[in-house]
Amino acid sequence: MKKIGLTTTVPVEVLLAAGYKPIDLNNLFITSKDYSKYIDIAERDGFPKSLCAWIKGIYGACIENDIKEIVGVMEGDCSNTKVLIDVLKLRGIKVYPFSFSHSHKIQDVENEINKFMNVFGVEIEDVENVRKRLSRVRNLSKEIDKLTYIDNKANGFENHLYQVSLSDFNGDVDNFEDELKNVISNIRKRKPDEKKIRLGYIGVPPMTGDLYEFVEMFDAKFVYNEVQREFAFPRCDKAINIYEQYYDYTYPYDIDFRILELKKQIIERKLDGIIHYTQAFCHKAVEDIVLKQKLDIPILNIEGDKINILDARTKLRLEAFLDMLSDLKGGLI
Ligand code: SF4
Repeated sequence: MKKIGLTTTVPVEVLLAAGYKPIDLNNLFITSKDYSKYIDIAERDGFPKSLCAWIKGIYGACIENDIKEIVGVMEGDCSNTKVLIDVLKLRGIKVYPFSFSHSHKIQDVENEINKFMNVFGVEIEDVENVRKRLSRVRNLSKEIDKLTYIDNKANGFENHLYQVSLSDFNGDVDNFEDELKNVISNIRKRKPDEKKIRLGYIGVPPMTGDLYEFVEMFDAKFVYNEVQREFAFPRCDKAINIYEQYYDYTYPYDIDFRILELKKQIIERKLDGIIHYTQAFCHKAVEDIVLKQKLDIPILNIEGDKINILDARTKLRLEAFLDMLSDLKGGLI
């Protein structure tokens, strides 16, 4: 199977129907022991210090892993991705365009997905067959989500990992399905581990994966990972076709649409507080102003940059925030 790199979640059903093996470059970057080498490669090639580490990491991962084709998201992702795509083209990488239309009209979503299918020469019937197959795997990840926020058996990191990985199904749908089944069966055997403070994680996935373990030292746990859950398409069963599935996806569209789902999950998961992670040099950091205004829940904004572990100052701020939430909750669980 030919590899194709992704800079963000796109209709992977189309790529699989066309016989490609999708590779999420974000996951390739952040799960590598050499993650900082990927950033260095980008900086050596001229990417500025004052640019988001994800963009540089994606670039390095793409070059270093000999990815020759990628999907470039022209609308609905960030402006930094657009310039990244320009540079990758210069390096001889073939770019297939896709857009999440800003209008967020179902007809526009349909047009974009149809264009994408034409580019790859696949028919809607093939794509829907793949969608059905993937729905079974997506439902397994939903099960892990329930094991986190209902059964209190899965931890916040597992919840993050097994949802974020659905952007590319770890490059092998069958293997990933088996892995999820094993993980679920092991998690089910655990005793519930209920923590006093129930946290939500919102914003782009973190560079600092130790965040999940860190909060657990303070009787707290993440029971919601916003964007990772969106990557897993938890509402795909309700969508009658691929167009509806990608219409009902909160990540690339306007913030008000995203906030509707956030409000629902805050209530459903009985959240006590939210950690809003933003990436240094990312325009999305400004969304913190809107989110704090529109969400009626304590929110702490933390920022990550190039290092994949929490720094001392962020740890201190997290500790103080969790202390405050604990006081607010008093002796109640
Ligand atoms: S963190 Fe922000 S700037 Fe970086 S790739 Fe994501 S959206 Fe773009």
